[in-house]
Amino acid sequence: MTRHLIGQWAPVAAKAGMVPWVSLGPMPEPFSIMVADGFELVAYGHDAATGLRTIVAVHSTVLGPGLGGTRFWPYEDEQAALVDVCRLARGMTYKHAAAGLDQGGGKAVILGDPAAVRTDELLLAYGHFVDGLGGRYITAEDVGTSQADMDLIRTVTAHVAGISVAHGGSGDPSPETALGLVWAMRAVAERLWGGPSLEGRHVCIDGVGKVGGALADLLHAEGARLSVADVRPSASQAVADRTGATIVPPDRAHALPCDIFSPCAMGGALSAATIPELASLAVVGSANNQLATAQDGQRIHDSGVLYAPDYIVNAGGVINVAQEKAGYDRARAEERIRGIHDTLLRVLDLADAEGITTAAAADLLAERRIQEARMTQRSSH
Ligand code: NAD
Repeated sequence: MTRHLIGQWAPVAAKAGMVPWVSLGPMPEPFSIMVADGFELVAYGHDAATGLRTIVAVHSTVLGPGLGGTRFWPYEDEQAALVDVCRLARGMTYKHAAAGLDQGGGKAVILGDPAAVRTDELLLAYGHFVDGLGGRYITAEDVGTSQADMDLIRTVTAHVAGISVAHGGSGDPSPETALGLVWAMRAVAERLWGGPSLEGRHVCIDGVGKVGGALADLLHAEGARLSVADVRPSASQAVADRTGATIVPPDRAHALPCDIFSPCAMGGALSAATIPELASLAVVGSANNQLATAQDGQRIHDSGVLYAPDYIVNAGGVINVAQEKAGYDRARAEERIRGIHDTLLRVLDLADAEGITTAAAADLLAERRIQEARMTQRSSH
């Protein structure tokens, strides 16, 4: 396998048998992305025998090894894959930092349509590549990869999380992500209504897949009133049958008058088009990258709707997976997930104190923790 390494990790490169990029010619464009956003490592992997083409990005290891899933996706070209993996890895740094986890931010992409190119051999070649990074990157499941894939990769590297319960792992993180959302909603309820109870509150869940479906069940048990939407009518119908939820059309879910709107489908749900139509008092959902643009953080703030930042409230899954390191224990993991309640209240307090948006306050909280860790590391050297 050919492995090229870009970045500051020449000793790692040598150990992993990689060719430092600088020996291959002029500096490539990825450096500008790395330098602009302070990335530590971007590594390209290729395996001719299986057709593997992969990029691993480690944004920051200040708090610990870069943990993040492997996205298997038919990117238009390598530049699109590079931009995506860097954006996602950076997001993981912030998510872990804000959640108080001793994990850095990393992410990987495998280029191609998994339905067409996925083979066990390709995933094993990928596992060897991850192993060669010496633990600076820990992989897990993401869009296009499954827990079964992680169980396979685990046979060639220890640097993998999100494995099945049968192998001592934490299993599907979705129910724990949903649990974290409930704790976040309790914090929002305290802010808006003076107490944590969600009984009788009307929550509209847009996207009732693995997380949204589990969330509906938990909220139903709390006595909340539910509306649900999904582009798959069978999914919303199944939840309605279980919980008595009202089904609403997915393209209008955001505009439904309710207490909490919960986007649990794809990113970009909060935009210049949808924010003026919001008819909820708060937004608390699992979808990653809910704000379509950076300006939408200010836009939703100005609209008066309380936005609970996505990566603060959807951290239940990563908190759960991170517990595998010390030997997975569900009760301990769920205790940590409870902490999302307090973290969100800190973010809301910080936003008030600094006069900034909740999205900006989440970033500030994460950046402060990274900065503190960096100072501690410097002073101990
Ligand atoms: P999923 O694929 O199981 O569910 C997504 C659901 O959304 C599906 O039922 C799908 O039909 C529906 N959907 C897709 N487009 C829609 C649209 N335009 N309108 C309404 N419904 C639509 O995925 P999931 O694991 O439940 O994750 C949901 C979101 O939460 C994703 O954005 C994911 O990145 C994020 N997230 C998930 C986890 C986790 O633990 N699974 C953790 C953190 C963040």
